[in-house]
Amino acid sequence: MVTHVVVIGAGVYGAAVAAGLTRRGARVTVVDAGAPAGGTSGATFSWTNSCGKQPRAYHELSVAGMAAHRRLAAEATQDGWYHESGNLEWADGDVAGARLRAKVAGVLDYGYEARWLDRAEVLRLEPGMAQAELPPDGVAYFPREGWIDLPRLVGYLLATAVSGGAEVVRDDAVTGLETTAAEVRAVRLASGRRLPVAAVVNCAGPQAARVAELAGLVLPMRNTRGVLVQTSPAPVAVSRVVHAPRVHLRPDGDGRLLLHSPEIDGAARVADDGGFQVAPSAVERVVEAAVALYPGVRAASVRDVRVGERPIPDDGLPVLGRAAALANFHFAVSHSGATLCVHAGDLVAAEVLGEDRSEELAPFRFDRFNRYGGAGTGHNS
Ligand SMILES: Cc1cc2nc3c(=O)[nH]c(=O)nc-3n(C[C@H](O)[C@H](O)[C@H](O)COP(=O)(O)OP(=O)(O)OC[C@H]3O[C@@H](n4cnc5c(N)ncnc54)[C@H](O)[C@@H]3O)c2cc1C
Repeated sequence: MVTHVVVIGAGVYGAAVAAGLTRRGARVTVVDAGAPAGGTSGATFSWTNSCGKQPRAYHELSVAGMAAHRRLAAEATQDGWYHESGNLEWADGDVAGARLRAKVAGVLDYGYEARWLDRAEVLRLEPGMAQAELPPDGVAYFPREGWIDLPRLVGYLLATAVSGGAEVVRDDAVTGLETTAAEVRAVRLASGRRLPVAAVVNCAGPQAARVAELAGLVLPMRNTRGVLVQTSPAPVAVSRVVHAPRVHLRPDGDGRLLLHSPEIDGAARVADDGGFQVAPSAVERVVEAAVALYPGVRAASVRDVRVGERPIPDDGLPVLGRAAALANFHFAVSHSGATLCVHAGDLVAAEVLGEDRSEELAPFRFDRFNRYGGAGTGHNS
């Protein structure tokens, strides 16, 4: 039985793993270089879905992730982070239209809920939408999808962990891992603190490759940036996640909306102070698209522009569970972490404490990257 586990990163993965560990009786320290939810989990679209995810094992993991959210929200003593609002999606043009039809057919084949709605049905769900923006040939509707208020979920999971005895250390980066040939012995922090460990979980999101490197492991990643625009409270009823051709949007709490478009992701630049700058024209473009879709958005203003970094392992799939070469070093790293975190974090926590989760974790093991040269000897691609 593991006694002391250090979880590196207090984003949604670190929080979920820590909650899963303390629930099982482990002593846990969560360490973050900054503030909890100050990384990607604070700058994300956080749409819960398994829409078009391949291969099948990834689809099943995502469906299990959605079910875990539903269960947690039902059981929790407080909530407010979980919004199973449904998702509406349509496409422009023959190619994108055919791709969407294939996606809907594919998920239906997997037993996932999806159906086609005509314009009148969409307007009954979203009366604030401009009818002219809707396609004549149907909108795909995924009723079990939705969105998560991730900072709020991080707060809840960390509070659960703390009430189970966990310590949360903030503003203190992990700068070193003391390892022997086969395991990690201690974690070193920038403050000079040294934490002896029985196990370590790498939940460092977009920085996971750097943390793996401290253990002599090479995790190839191809992170990308995304730009998110938050509006002031808008006098318009947007109830669902919407994926329209020129804008993706969803409610963001207290009447605010969150807007995104992959077309403006490239507009983020690193500024001189190390933060991000986003071209104002890109922000205007996504706001204009939102106004065209929901004219009531015109009365809102831009409240915040956020840039998030998607933590994407090189093959696009999650990296979960222990590393074969370093038996007490574990990973919980993925894109789609908003969807997966509660379920995947719990699987990882269970394995850290000796439960056999091999079947669920097998497709997502770090060791699949051995083809890049093997743990500790390969190169980032
Ligand atoms: C634009 C955008 C849109 C997205 N849309 C969706 C979506 O619709 N649906 C979905 O499911 N997912 C989505 N995602 C992905 C999802 O948000 C992420 O997978 C998830 O938030 C990752 O959480 P995390 O805990 O792994 O990382 P993070 O939240 O980044 O947490 C990692 C933490 O580790 C800390 N850290 C790093 N290095 C160190 C160190 N050396 N020492 C100590 N601490 C360290 C950081 O400070 C950070 O707080 C999106 C992401 C982006 C950017």
